Amino acid sequence: MKKDLKIGIMGGTFNPIHHGHLVAAGEALHQFHLDKVIFIPSGDPPHKDFHEEKIAEHRYLMTVIATSSNKNFFVSRIEIDRKGKSYTIDTIKELKKIYGQSSNLYFITGADAILEILSWKKTQEIIQLCSFIAATRPGYDISRIQELKERLFKKTKNNIEKIFVMEVPALAISSTDIRKRVKGKKPIDYLVPEGVSNYILKHGLYK
Ligand code: NAP
Repeated sequence: MKKDLKIGIMGGTFNPIHHGHLVAAGEALHQFHLDKVIFIPSGDPPHKDFHEEKIAEHRYLMTVIATSSNKNFFVSRIEIDRKGKSYTIDTIKELKKIYGQSSNLYFITGADAILEILSWKKTQEIIQLCSFIAATRPGYDISRIQELKERLFKKTKNNIEKIFVMEVPALAISSTDIRKRVKGKKPIDYLVPEGVSNYILKHGLYK
């Protein structure tokens, strides 16, 4: 009998993708015994005023470059190609259609983003359909995730064990810092894969 796939969904803006994201995906693959991790750069994030979709194609291509050497990493453009705001519920439903309703989906993203999950579109439905892996930077106060679980329990009466915390020391690297460094003409070698750093230079991004 065919086994149900366990798939990691790496959600994020990836502006740009860096080694912290790659280490987080690799760690999730290992810790949660996933079959693969699909990186999904968001198209037009619902919670952001500025329009990241303007450089969406660059974010997507840098993600492809960064993940190309790992046989378990894949990149999807479903959010980049979808018109309108990138709601996670729409993505999860689409993936369930592709991989089967019994596939086990793990949505991996930054803990700060997961803390806002109660304000996401159709929270109740999302937590029925997938689990969450909150990737934290070193020193992150994980009691905030525990508080979230309690609020979630009050609201939904179940599923609080569907949120996992995963500490990733390499997440000391951040996209915001990388953009600032490029603007300030500081090196970004070793923070991002070489191909990504070359891509940023070639296309004059973040100047
Ligand atoms: P964000 O505000 O850009 O990021 C929040 C924090 O999490 C940042 O510190 C970020 O670090 C980190 N982070 C982001 N993605 C990560 C990843 N995959 N692994 C580890 N750390 C990560 O959040 P965002 O990227 O826009 O949103 C995260 C995901 O949640 C996206 O897929 C987005 O579509 C989804 N989301 C959905 C809704 C909704 O459906 N209503 C609302 C909000 C967010 P870096 O800056 O270094 O990446």
